[in-house]
Amino acid sequence: MNFEFTAEQIQLRKTVRNFAQAEIAPHVLEWDENQTFPLPIVKKAGELGLLGVIFPEELGGAGLGYIEYSIVIEELARVDPSVALILAAHNSLCTNHIYLAGNEEQKRKYIPKLASGEWIGCWSLTEPEAGSDAAGTRSTATLKDGEWVLNGGKTFTTNAHYADVCVAMAVTDRSASQHGISAFILERDTPGFQVGKKENKLGMRASATGEVLFSNCRLDQAQLLGKSGEGFVDSLRILDGGRISIAALSVGLAQGAFDAALKYSKQRKQFGRFISEFQSIQDKLSNMATSIEAARWLTYCAGARKDLGQRVTKESAMAKLFASEMAVTVADQALQIHGGDGFVKDYPGQKLYRAVKLCRSGEGAGEIPPVVIEREHLQE
Ligand SMILES: Cc1cc2nc3c(=O)[nH]c(=O)nc-3n(C[C@H](O)[C@H](O)[C@H](O)COP(=O)(O)OP(=O)(O)OC[C@H]3O[C@@H](n4cnc5c(N)ncnc54)[C@H](O)[C@@H]3O)c2cc1C
Repeated sequence: MNFEFTAEQIQLRKTVRNFAQAEIAPHVLEWDENQTFPLPIVKKAGELGLLGVIFPEELGGAGLGYIEYSIVIEELARVDPSVALILAAHNSLCTNHIYLAGNEEQKRKYIPKLASGEWIGCWSLTEPEAGSDAAGTRSTATLKDGEWVLNGGKTFTTNAHYADVCVAMAVTDRSASQHGISAFILERDTPGFQVGKKENKLGMRASATGEVLFSNCRLDQAQLLGKSGEGFVDSLRILDGGRISIAALSVGLAQGAFDAALKYSKQRKQFGRFISEFQSIQDKLSNMATSIEAARWLTYCAGARKDLGQRVTKESAMAKLFASEMAVTVADQALQIHGGDGFVKDYPGQKLYRAVKLCRSGEGAGEIPPVVIEREHLQE
C-alpha cells in the first residue's frame, strides 16, 4: 500500500485550493444569503477541467480518476459545499450516466460539451413519491409514432434551473418493476420539458435545487440512454460513484468547519487566555481532526478501489455513511467553539452547520447506506 499522493495529485489540490480561495471564498456568505447560483464560477471551473475530471481526454475530460475527483470535491467543499455539490451532480451523476450507459454517438455529442462547461448537466431520479424508494418512479415514457413521450415530474434536481442537459428516469414498462425504468437524455429546449419550482433551502443555498416537469414531452428515440428498462439499475451503479463524491464533500465541509474553529480559538480570549489553551477546546479540536482524517482515508480508499475497476457498492456506502455522520458532528462542534458568534451570519460556522444536513440526505438519506451495506454483507 502507498498512502502518498502523486506529484500530480498534490499539484491538482494546490490548483483547486487556490481557485477556491481566490474566486469563491470572498463571495460565499453573500451567495448563500441571496441563493445566487455562481454560473460564471462554474464556467471557470470548466476551463480548469473540473467539470470533466473523470472522463477520458479523447472526450474532452481530464482523464483522471476518483482519487483526483475526491481531491477536487474536497477542496471546493472546504470553501463552499454548494459549489462542490453543483460540480458533483454535473460530473458523477449526469455526465457519468452518459459515459457509463451511452452509445458512442451520445458520448461524442454530450460529454465534450459537458466536460468543458459549455453545457451544465443535471440528473433527475427523485420524485415527490419516490425518494429513497426510487424504484417507485411514476413518471412515464411511452413509445408513440416512433417517439418517446414523457409525462410526469421530478423533484430535488440539483442544477435543474441552469442545466442544458438533463438525464431523467421514467417508467417504460410498469410490469417489469426495477427493470422497467429507462433513462433519457433531455436537452433544455425539448418541447414539453420545463423546470418548475426552485426550492428555498436550509443550506447549500448557492446550488439550485428544484423540479423538472414533463408534459407530453416528445423525444427522438435516439435520446434513450442505455438499454430500455435498465435506467434504474444503471442509476444504482452511478450512485456508487456519486456516494464517493458526497463522502469527499463531507470531508471538505468538515475540514472547512475545523479550519474556522481552529482560527477562532486562536483569536478569542476568555479568562485572560486564548480559548485554544483550554483543555476541553483542545479535546474537541483533536477529536474533530482525527475523525476528519479517518473519513478522508475511507473516502480515498473507496476511490482507489473504484479506479482499480472494482465494484464499490459497499465501500462507497460506508464512506458516505461515515463521512456524512462525521461532518454533522464536526460542524456542530465547530459552531460550539465559536460560542455566540457561531449563531451569527457574519461567521461561516452557521452556514456549514446548515449545509451539512444535505450530506446526510443526498444520494441515499442517512438510513439508506446501512441498508445498502447490509444487503452487500448478506450477499457475500
Ligand atoms: C439539496 C438536495 C439536492 C438533491 N439533488 C438531487 C439530484 O440532483 N437528483 C436526484 O435525483 N435527487 C436529488 N436529491 C434527492 C435526494 O436524493 C433525496 O432527498 C433522498 O434520496 C431522500 O429521499 P426523500 O427526500 O424523498 O426522503 P424519504 O425517502 O421520504 O425519506 C424520509 C426519511 O425516511 C427514511 N427512510 C426511507 N426509507 C427507509 C428505509 N427503508 N429504512 C429506514 N429509513 C428509511 C429516510 O432515511 C429519511 O430519514 C436532492 C435532495 C436535496 C435535499
